Amino acid sequence: MDDAANMVTVTLPDGAARTYPAGVTAATVARDISASLAKAAVAAKIDGALTDLSRPIAADARLAILTSKDAEALELIRHDCAHIMARAVQEIWPETKVTIGPVVENGWYYDFDREEPFTDADFAQIEAKMRQIIAARDPVRTEIWPRDKAIAHYRAANEPFKVELVEAIPEDQAIRMYWHGPWQDLCRGPHLAHTGQVPPDAFKLMRVAGAYWRGDSRNKQLQRIYGVAFRTRAELEAHLKMLEEAAKRDHRRIGREMRLFHLQEEAPGMVFWHPDGWAIYRVLEDYMRRRLSARGYREIRTPQVVDRKLWEASGHWEKYRENMFITEIDETSEAGGHANEKRTNALKPMNCPCHVQIYNQGLKSYRDLPLRLAEFGSCHRYESSGSMHGLMRVRGFTQDDAHIFCTEDQIGAETAAFIDLLGTVYRDLGFESFDIKFSTRPEVRAGSDETWDKAEAALEAAVKGVTSDYEIDPGEGAFYGPKLDFKLTDAIGREWQCGTLQADFVLPERLGAEYVAEDGSKKRPVMLHRAILGSFERFIGILIENCAGRFPLWLAPRQVVVATIVSDADAYAAEVVAGLRALGLRAEADLRNEKINYKVREHSDAHVPVILALGRQEVEARSVSVRRLGAQGQQTMSLDAALAALAADATPPDLRPTGETR
Ligand SMILES: [Zn+2]
Ligand SMILES: [Zn+2]
Repeated sequence: MDDAANMVTVTLPDGAARTYPAGVTAATVARDISASLAKAAVAAKIDGALTDLSRPIAADARLAILTSKDAEALELIRHDCAHIMARAVQEIWPETKVTIGPVVENGWYYDFDREEPFTDADFAQIEAKMRQIIAARDPVRTEIWPRDKAIAHYRAANEPFKVELVEAIPEDQAIRMYWHGPWQDLCRGPHLAHTGQVPPDAFKLMRVAGAYWRGDSRNKQLQRIYGVAFRTRAELEAHLKMLEEAAKRDHRRIGREMRLFHLQEEAPGMVFWHPDGWAIYRVLEDYMRRRLSARGYREIRTPQVVDRKLWEASGHWEKYRENMFITEIDETSEAGGHANEKRTNALKPMNCPCHVQIYNQGLKSYRDLPLRLAEFGSCHRYESSGSMHGLMRVRGFTQDDAHIFCTEDQIGAETAAFIDLLGTVYRDLGFESFDIKFSTRPEVRAGSDETWDKAEAALEAAVKGVTSDYEIDPGEGAFYGPKLDFKLTDAIGREWQCGTLQADFVLPERLGAEYVAEDGSKKRPVMLHRAILGSFERFIGILIENCAGRFPLWLAPRQVVVATIVSDADAYAAEVVAGLRALGLRAEADLRNEKINYKVREHSDAHVPVILALGRQEVEARSVSVRRLGAQGQQTMSLDAALAALAADATPPDLRPTGETR
């Protein structure tokens, strides 16, 4: 073998190339570059794949040395925390058996099998032990083991779950072990170079929960300890602060306190809207309806229970059936009244196939396009009971759905108009900024490259028209077309993906949609699936948490309470309430024989934006004393002036005189 065959060339991100004997590690290269880099290095990327610093480089490769400043380092910190926590737990309670411990959002968890329950009170002890392990700067090592050796090892160590895990690894996959100091775990890696690279003051154990082995309720129940980790203490503190804020704003609690909605066991994931919650829903729906109508959308309504034949034709029966609610009925003949045909229907999980049915009625010409069909479409999707969460994740929901049938040439203009509408709606609803993600063609896809070229270019040009700051997610488009996702940021910095626009070349084909082009030939329209809110249910959940229940006046379920100070004001209060209601305001009277301060406190706690207090003075002067939520003091105004001011303030944003913002 000549020397060249034993050498590898590593190319660094700045383009510099270095030659080493094959098997060189990223750690050696880092040391070669500088002592400070060697010290700061936490992991490497070899040809784009995240890996350990100690992994040998066998062939020519692109190499990047990562330090704690790189985003990927955070994933590793969280992953190393999982191992370090498991080691800490086994050092404190050696009888504990270990299972799995993946990285999750903001942190990690690890599932343990132990007779005694873990409690929050154990966390301080585990955290202290973890800090000891971190302070020891124990090296992290890795080895590939033969299957038999791994199984024998775990049998001897009395770790039955690990034995099962090893046995489940496919024959063609390596069995890799990691050591954090003396403590060993089965793991694909990668990991940091030593335990001291985990910041000792930026992690925290959060809670313990039950979890079945392999997620199967027939298996043993384990104890899952969750932790969060960040790169700095400040980031951890910001996260904990955010959680505290989020708990205060929890829409389930506020929904209960404001009596907006409830959920119950008999209809899991389906919302019982109470009068005040439904008031918000209707105001939002009316607002959306006006915004859509002004932009040339036509509203439609399609059936909720639809024969499986349509779902078979659309492809949902094959691809989406597990998430569909199915009903079977015996269709009776008109004459006899006895069953003669069993029909299988599904509750629609989405509206698209039904919209194509409306499009397909009557011959369409290029002159009919773009055709924008909107529906506040009531959909049902089966979600596992564990994944449901208040209004945020439900089984029955209403999309602000619309489908734009257009020519390929119209995709750009329609996308631009959609983004403009979406931005307007988000701003009106109190969200100043949103992020856009553009997902391009996946490997497996329908449609010609030419069509994809055109659609991707049109979507991207439309995005560039509003911002240069967008994220590209290569290969993450749907198989039927490229898509845009829109994420808004709420008052406490959380991101929510709500809006979407997806170009679709496939469904029009499957369901036979066509139009007569200018040259007389028949062509397929492109379908743009698009939503702004996503679903009303989830969006109202987001709205509640964004404003912590303190809705802007136009959206507030109870806008004005007219509270009397003396019973002599009762008749006048009724007149004021009637005047407010005549102007379309949601107003009610509080005539109870209670102190005015008590009434004010109670309605303020219920987030009523405006309280009008009426005493003898107000009766005589035909005035009102106005208290606004969150403002100090009160303002006395004539009744007429107050009615006019409140009516103006309560006007939905789209109905206000142009240029006026509130
Ligand atoms: Zn691991
Ligand atoms: Zn659709």
